[in-house]
Amino acid sequence: MIAERGARALERYNAALVKRTLKIVALVVLLLVVAVVALFAITFMGRQSITDGFEVGGIRIVADGIVSVAVVPAGQGQVVLIDAGNDNAGQAILAELSRRQLGPDAVAAIFITHGHPDHTGAIGQFRKAQVMALEAEVGLIEGREGARGPLTRLFPVRPTGVKVARTLRDSETVTVGEAQVRVFAVPGHTAGSAAYLVNGVLFLGDAADTNDAGELSGSPWIFSDNQAQDRASLVRLAQRLDGERADVKALVFAHSGVRTEGLAPLTAFATK
Ligand SMILES: [Zn+2]
Repeated sequence: MIAERGARALERYNAALVKRTLKIVALVVLLLVVAVVALFAITFMGRQSITDGFEVGGIRIVADGIVSVAVVPAGQGQVVLIDAGNDNAGQAILAELSRRQLGPDAVAAIFITHGHPDHTGAIGQFRKAQVMALEAEVGLIEGREGARGPLTRLFPVRPTGVKVARTLRDSETVTVGEAQVRVFAVPGHTAGSAAYLVNGVLFLGDAADTNDAGELSGSPWIFSDNQAQDRASLVRLAQRLDGERADVKALVFAHSGVRTEGLAPLTAFATK
């Protein structure tokens, strides 16, 4: 009798313990979900939206969902791309090429701002294109190394099938047909992040974003290897271009469109 009562009490105790544990687990899961949603909201809210088809300096901005690709005319039926978008099939890019009565083989080169998958998606569609990137980014683009951001470090590391044909150096100018591309190392978002200056248009990739008022922010924490290094790179880039500010017409952000106040928004960010 006593043993039976004891067993029942133990059962009740166990049931209560299970219930309490479940409550704690549910609370922790809820807090985690709230934290992740808040992080994504902080990262994505307030960004200026991408205007598909925006033209600046003879370059056309093509929206591919959350990210943009730039199509730079290189003469003689050829173009150069800045980044290759999120869509592996490259539909938005191919549509822009066909609007120009061009096919995928018209892409002579693709300059990659960095190796995150939303910037390299459609590379495989452009068989004639030479893929170009800073040396420090090659491992990430080819899938031999992982990124180091709080979230990006969770991405699987596996070969992407992409081969970087030409490694770039900071400060060099690369000529492809009639297109001239100046290369700037802006490490931080990733180790080999690059900015490119073409026809007076400065492509910042994910090194920075802008809001509707043209106020810049550095690369978002959850996706970035090193935010402090990113900021230092942007400050240095503003200093390097200060002497030729009259020649910089616009800034292009991979996830937040175009600003046409010249170098000023970057200078304002760098000096605040
Ligand atoms: Zn990125």
